[in-house]
Amino acid sequence: MVTVSLTPIPFRIAALTQERNSLFEYPLERLAEIIREIGFSCTSCAKCCTREFNGHVFLLDRDVMAIKTIDPKALGPAPAPEFCDQNGIFYVSGYALRTKDDTKGSCWFLEDGRCRIYDRRFAICRVYPYMLHREPDEYGKVDWRQFSGLDKHGEYHATIPKDECLALARETKEYENAFLTQEIHFLEFIRDYFAANGLRHVQKVYDDRMRGFVRGAEITVMVYCDGGLEEYRFNRDSI
Ligand code: SF4
Repeated sequence: MVTVSLTPIPFRIAALTQERNSLFEYPLERLAEIIREIGFSCTSCAKCCTREFNGHVFLLDRDVMAIKTIDPKALGPAPAPEFCDQNGIFYVSGYALRTKDDTKGSCWFLEDGRCRIYDRRFAICRVYPYMLHREPDEYGKVDWRQFSGLDKHGEYHATIPKDECLALARETKEYENAFLTQEIHFLEFIRDYFAANGLRHVQKVYDDRMRGFVRGAEITVMVYCDGGLEEYRFNRDSI
């Protein structure tokens, strides 16, 4: 049996911590200037609220607390769990918004092309399409990315007041910081939880369970939320 030990976790925590530090150092004014230059303007096409356009909408803990009061059925484990223990239990760093069973995979809250909770929409929905994280482009070059779906939706070259650009930049940095912090806390939690309970990640079990899931078997996913784990059981037909 091929096992993947937990030794990479400290390295992953160190890498995320370094990323968060460099995020702090990225000048707010530079991001605000890029936002001003691009001048993105939303045309309410609602593309960004579909799985077809965006893989999934990851939720911060504070968003999860809000959804639990609005409509808990909108919650599902974020895709691609990071770990699977020797007993076949998966672990993932948070929740994502569920999508509807339509051709585009519309967000649970999207109705007739409009967000039905717009005034209470979540952190990522508020900052989108602005972002500030390092990721590779199509050629593998890792660099800071500031926009998602550039030139694929909305309109550009709108005039955005300087104050508004600064506010958008600030909110975007705050979101990225919260996201990275949640990921770091998840890894720290799993490191300690696995050690305390004699668990280890086993890639073969992960792969076998995933193959079973694709064929229709039920899986159990432990979702990291608010400093603990929440159990979630489902099969292919119930998501
Ligand atoms: S919550 Fe609203 S804004 Fe966010 S993805 Fe869903 S429909 Fe879009």
